Amino acid sequence: MFDFHKDPYKDCGEYLVVKTETNPENKNLLDLYFTNNIFYPGGAGQPADKGWLEFNNSKIEIVAARKSNDYIILSIEKNKVKYELPKIVKVKININRRKKLTIAHSSEHILFKTILNKFPNAKNLKVKLGEEISEVFFECKDFDESVISEIEADANEIIKRELEVKSELFEKNESENIKELRIKKDRIKDNKVRVVKIGDFDISACAGTHVKNTKEIPFIFIVGINRKNNEIKLKFTNSSDVLFNFATLSRDLMQTYKKENLKEFLRNTIHQQSYLKRDLRWLIKNIENLKSTHENNIIRIINLEGITNDLQNFIIKNLNKIIIISRIPGTEKTKILIKGLEGYTINSLIRSFELKGNLNKEKAVFQGVSEKANPEKIIEFLKKQNLIFIELK
Ligand SMILES: [Zn+2]
Repeated sequence: MFDFHKDPYKDCGEYLVVKTETNPENKNLLDLYFTNNIFYPGGAGQPADKGWLEFNNSKIEIVAARKSNDYIILSIEKNKVKYELPKIVKVKININRRKKLTIAHSSEHILFKTILNKFPNAKNLKVKLGEEISEVFFECKDFDESVISEIEADANEIIKRELEVKSELFEKNESENIKELRIKKDRIKDNKVRVVKIGDFDISACAGTHVKNTKEIPFIFIVGINRKNNEIKLKFTNSSDVLFNFATLSRDLMQTYKKENLKEFLRNTIHQQSYLKRDLRWLIKNIENLKSTHENNIIRIINLEGITNDLQNFIIKNLNKIIIISRIPGTEKTKILIKGLEGYTINSLIRSFELKGNLNKEKAVFQGVSEKANPEKIIEFLKKQNLIFIELK
């Protein structure tokens, strides 16, 4: 077992350099081969450590790392080597960064298992751990964003249970008998499989570094969710720095909008935004028709489903001849507005559909409600009237 697995919080160690070679991809780099190290070479979504070598009072930055077969290979820049390298070198890592990544990694296991418990068909695609924000990519057909708070709460409950985190090595074929093991066999190149167990909650094959007990994780906070079809990207943090930024942002928003209930305010804003998007889509779709029909004998019939009152009012104000028909949500009733049409047409519409409403003769606007007709029926009726019209949807 490598030292980075034995103790995730150890920040230095002395190791024997088994051999040195020029890096196969970059001739300016020197590769140092080790059979053991505290330096995590990267993998399982966890980036490699950052750190340096110490010898003869000099410090050389480790610029790249990888694992190949049983070796941990650390690369340094050749021109930084002023003295001959000793056989044994001291390796030191940026321990604060390692701690953050270790906490993020165990959090990711807990978070994804929590998701799996709610959506058993969720499939983990990729993990990208970071010091501040980490990301989990997964595929899930029936994922429902509204349960995000529940997932977050469940994951934080697991942390509170102070579960021990243990790891063990198994032969690859042996791992097949482990119950409920989360494993992506095709991604495991070694013969041995490292299995990480979080209490009785989760068991997963993983090469990364992990906390010893879930009590080391301060909290899991979901800060974002993106969805593209069935692919979901969940962003989370354990960092209080990020939380501090969120808190500052919330406070600023509260001060700016003087809203006591910020949550409700934000929800309304998001709703409003979706309405505006719908308006915009409608306008883009119909802009050519709206522009091109200035001739007086063309009537624009607008079947309005879902565009905002603001946009409706704008259209009424700016078009000369229009019929606006829209179903009243949740009822069988249809609202109808007629502007700039001849009395004959208005009267036949009122009669045919038993329209109840009022006529503003000055503005030549009739507004009413029909219980008898739906938009399709009205359009069908208008088509028989020998009127020239353009239907906008
Ligand atoms: Zn992992």
